[in-house]
Amino acid sequence: MSFSSKVKEELATVIPTGRHCQLAELAAIIRLCAKVEYRANGEARMELQTENELIIRKYFTLLRKAFIINTDVSKVLQAIRLYPDSGSEPDPKGTVSSLLIRNTCCKRAYLRGVFICIGSMSDPKKNYHLEFVCSCEEQADQLLEIMNSFHLEGKSIVRKKNHIVYVKEGSGIADLLNIIGAHHSLMDLENLRIEKEVRNSVNRQVNCETANIGKTVTAASRQIEDIILIKERYGFGNLPDNLREMAEIRLEYPESSLKELGGILNPPVGKSGVNHRLRKLSELADKLKEQFRFKKEEEDG
Ligand SMILES: [Zn+2]
Repeated sequence: MSFSSKVKEELATVIPTGRHCQLAELAAIIRLCAKVEYRANGEARMELQTENELIIRKYFTLLRKAFIINTDVSKVLQAIRLYPDSGSEPDPKGTVSSLLIRNTCCKRAYLRGVFICIGSMSDPKKNYHLEFVCSCEEQADQLLEIMNSFHLEGKSIVRKKNHIVYVKEGSGIADLLNIIGAHHSLMDLENLRIEKEVRNSVNRQVNCETANIGKTVTAASRQIEDIILIKERYGFGNLPDNLREMAEIRLEYPESSLKELGGILNPPVGKSGVNHRLRKLSELADKLKEQFRFKKEEEDG
């Protein structure tokens, strides 16, 4: 299964508890995947136009949660503000009423629905690319606006007749997965990213000396993994000076022994001092992993 399908599988199981969020996600699905017809007598007809089982399943789950069974279609459309109302201008094609996505939680839910319907991402083993295929400019603009509110740097281009909103940075994609609640996929992505960075960082330094890597690098790889995790989830800026300097030097000299690292520090520190600081960093990394797991479990329910 592709990485993208795995993300969607996961998102299909994320059901928001607040009715406001349920409506926001439902609005995304109806806006993007349903054909709605209004009759002169005030009746409405709606048809989901997708063969994607995940979308269909999600649609019915949300409907069941947000409404009593057998709700009239026009009630659903009224609730998501898609029913013609003489009092206000209809929202442009493909967008949803800003009233539905006022709350941050609802923005997240809406983005989740949008990703299931028109989103996809490439295999992070190959490259970092996540995109939404929007059918019109207004829709792309609204999506970008919502993404901006989360400080996600989305960009857009026109491809054929579609407006593509995309994110290219690994960190931006990770943030987006986090925002829409794809936590397992996020973990997979983060692990791949860390592996990649460790590999690059080690390769950069060791190059042709592969024969000499040996045990030092295995231990170093673990330390480097921890340090990169700290960099991503905590930030070097939040570390005390001695630990920050240690972290930076470990990243810069992945093949060096503890004694050598100690000599590079300013002022120099003995092997046990280096060991002590690296242990502190690993403890912090463990704590961050723990917090991340805890947060995930909390959000999962
Ligand atoms: Zn909400």
